[in-house]
Amino acid sequence: MFDDVLDAVEPLQHSSFWADSGKLIMSSNAPKILHERHGYPINFLDCQTLLGILYAHLRECQDKVLVNKRVTQVTHHPTHIVAECEDGSSYQGDLIVGADGVRSGVRQQMWNYMVSLGLSKEIAPDMRTMISEYDCVFGISPETPGLIPGRTHRTFGQGYSFLTISSKNGRVYWFFFTKMARKYASHEIPRFRPEDVDEHVAAWLQKPLTGDVHLEPSTKELL
Ligand SMILES: Cc1cc2nc3c(=O)[nH]c(=O)nc-3n(C[C@H](O)[C@H](O)[C@H](O)COP(=O)(O)OP(=O)(O)OC[C@H]3O[C@@H](n4cnc5c(N)ncnc54)[C@H](O)[C@@H]3O)c2cc1C
Repeated sequence: MFDDVLDAVEPLQHSSFWADSGKLIMSSNAPKILHERHGYPINFLDCQTLLGILYAHLRECQDKVLVNKRVTQVTHHPTHIVAECEDGSSYQGDLIVGADGVRSGVRQQMWNYMVSLGLSKEIAPDMRTMISEYDCVFGISPETPGLIPGRTHRTFGQGYSFLTISSKNGRVYWFFFTKMARKYASHEIPRFRPEDVDEHVAAWLQKPLTGDVHLEPSTKELL
C-alpha cells in the first residue's frame, strides 16, 4: 500500500519556522533526517486519496465496507450486541468497536451503558480526558508561488500559529490555529459555521506563512 501512497505525495525534506514579523527563526532538514533514520518519509495527501488507496487494497473484501451507514443505537444482549442504523438496518455481532471519530456516538453509548450498570465513577475520568484549547481553520490550496513541494513552514505568534505543507504538484495543505477564550470539554467543543470563517480569519490575512507568502496571497503571489 505504501508504494501507492508514495506515488501520490512529495515526501517532506525541509522545514522552516517563522516569527510573527516574517523573520526566519530557523530552517532545517529534519524531515529528511527523520526519513533517513526511520526508513519512511513524512507525507501529506488528501484524506480521500488515502481512503481510496486503502479501499483498493481491500480487493475481494471490499463488500465488507458498507458506506452511508449511520449508527444511531447500540443495544447490549447477554450473547451479542446489535448496532442499529439510521436507515432502519441493523447488524449483530460479538462486540462493537467505535471508530467514529472525536465526537463518537458509539463511545457515548458505551458510557451510557456503563452508567446504566452503576459505573459512573469508573468512567468519570475518561469523560473528562478530552479537551480543546485551540481552534483550527484548515484548507487545501492549489500550487502557490513561494511554497516549494516537499517543504513545510510553521509560523508562531501570540495566540496563533500556522502550519503549511507543500506536497506533490505544489498542492498546499494549510492550518491556522488560534487559542480559544477558554478550554472546552469534549461534549461542548464548538464548531465554526461556514459564515463565521471569513470574520475569524480577517485579522490574520496579512500574517506570514513564510517570509514572503501570506495567508491571503497578494495579486503577485497568485498564479
Ligand atoms: C484537516 C486535518 C488534517 C489532519 N492531518 C493529519 C495528519 O497529517 N496526520 C495525522 O496523523 N492526523 C491528521 N489529522 C488527524 C486525523 O485525521 C484524526 O486523528 C483521525 O482521522 C482520527 O481517526 P478516527 O478513525 O478516530 O476518526 P475519523 O477519521 O474522524 O473517522 C470517523 C468516521 O466515523 C464516521 N462516523 C461518525 N459517526 C458515525 C455514526 N454514527 N455511524 C457510522 N459512522 C459514523 C465518520 O463519517 C467518519 O468516516 C488531521 C485532521 C484534520 C481535521
